[in-house]
Amino acid sequence: MHVVILGAGVVGITTAHYLSEAGCEVTVIDRQPEVAAETSFANAGLISAGHAFTWASPRAPGLMMRALLGTDPGFRVRWGALPSLAGWGLRFLRECNAAAFRRNTTVKYRIAGYSQRCLGEIHDATAIDYHRLRRGLLYFYRSSASFAQGARNMELMRELGHQVQVFDRAACVAKEPALAGLGAALAGGVYCPDDESGDCRIFTAGLARRCRERGVKFRFGTAITGLERAGDRVTAVHTEMGPLTGDAYVLALGSYSPLISRRAGVKLPVIPVRGFSLSLPITDPQAGPVTGGVDEDRFSAFGRMGEVLRITATADFTGYDAGHRPSDFDHMRAVAKELFPTGVAHDQPKYWACLRPVTPDGPPVLGASPLRNLYLNTGHGHMGWTMACGSSRIVADTILGRRPEIDVTGLTYDRYR
Ligand SMILES: Cc1cc2nc3c(=O)[nH]c(=O)nc-3n(C[C@H](O)[C@H](O)[C@H](O)COP(=O)(O)OP(=O)(O)OC[C@H]3O[C@@H](n4cnc5c(N)ncnc54)[C@H](O)[C@@H]3O)c2cc1C
Repeated sequence: MHVVILGAGVVGITTAHYLSEAGCEVTVIDRQPEVAAETSFANAGLISAGHAFTWASPRAPGLMMRALLGTDPGFRVRWGALPSLAGWGLRFLRECNAAAFRRNTTVKYRIAGYSQRCLGEIHDATAIDYHRLRRGLLYFYRSSASFAQGARNMELMRELGHQVQVFDRAACVAKEPALAGLGAALAGGVYCPDDESGDCRIFTAGLARRCRERGVKFRFGTAITGLERAGDRVTAVHTEMGPLTGDAYVLALGSYSPLISRRAGVKLPVIPVRGFSLSLPITDPQAGPVTGGVDEDRFSAFGRMGEVLRITATADFTGYDAGHRPSDFDHMRAVAKELFPTGVAHDQPKYWACLRPVTPDGPPVLGASPLRNLYLNTGHGHMGWTMACGSSRIVADTILGRRPEIDVTGLTYDRYR
């Protein structure tokens, strides 16, 4: 069987890995000159099943309101983007109740935990060096009220079977000495010893090299313009370089998936939500984070990739604008200086912005679509690195007619019909 994979981000490449391993002929198409050049390029690197909470929560409408008023550094909604958010926004609001939050977070946790296992298996089999750090992740809080709320939220993770340790200030500093500088501004944290981190781009590039050795073909610099359809089947992918045909097609275009799928009549409730990432060289190997984690009250994630400190933040509902200005990083630069004042070259920032592909309920959309030979692997939102390997294993199993290893309820397209 010849499978054409649309998109060479971490999701497309992990799909190529599983399908080529199973003996399929695989072609991957991407408009960029190399793999992982868009959203998979410089994310925070966290593999964070313990943070599988969905954005749609009872708290979210209030956050959105603050975002519209421009009073929140973590969330921004442009008034002009509101019309394009209407349908998605209504679905999102329907999921902002306690029961849906619990149900959707449970689904995300299921796929995140499975995916981490799949990532570990790929690592064991390939030995790709992607700065993997298996020292747990620390989610810390600055106010005692948010700490108490965060610790309560983590009860759900504990119920789901995740290892969760509630830390006071001293225990946080013992785990992550750099936080000592926060002094009384640090209220406490939640430590998940099984969460981990690593560089998503380096992993994706390493896996793509192994795919190529196995015979996977890559068509880089090839912009996809549409899908040709006859009845309930896709018959070709249209690109600026001409059409390409296969027996099956996997849509893994991240935020751009709905733009292409709708040309074949498949509506996907996935919207782009821009995020920003700041990378700084670590000049003193003893400096920078020992683990990785999230500064919860600053909505900022941080990770260490070898001698690079990465800080990411902001959920910006602005449509398909992936640009950035230096001022977009003011918040992250301030967080970086506060948390890691020394041993980091704050004057050598690398800026990047990209679009998270976000579904209204939170989990990605995996497997069968309304078209018989079009398969979906998209909508991974703020946790695509965490969920990619498991998602791609499920999609590959579906294409190959195998039963997925985990329950896929809440992960398939059916939920949107
Ligand atoms: C700031 C930020 C921080 C994040 N931090 C984390 C984190 O710590 N942990 C975590 O798990 N996740 C994180 N994420 C989320 C994660 O990065 C994404 O969910 C993941 O990268 C999505 O992968 P993807 O392969 O679906 O999309 P992409 O990586 O965007 O891949 C899609 C590919 O499709 C190609 N493409 C699109 N349209 C076309 C077209 N028309 N023709 C040809 N090619 C096309 C693109 O070039 C791209 O290569 C973060 C995201 C952001 C923005």
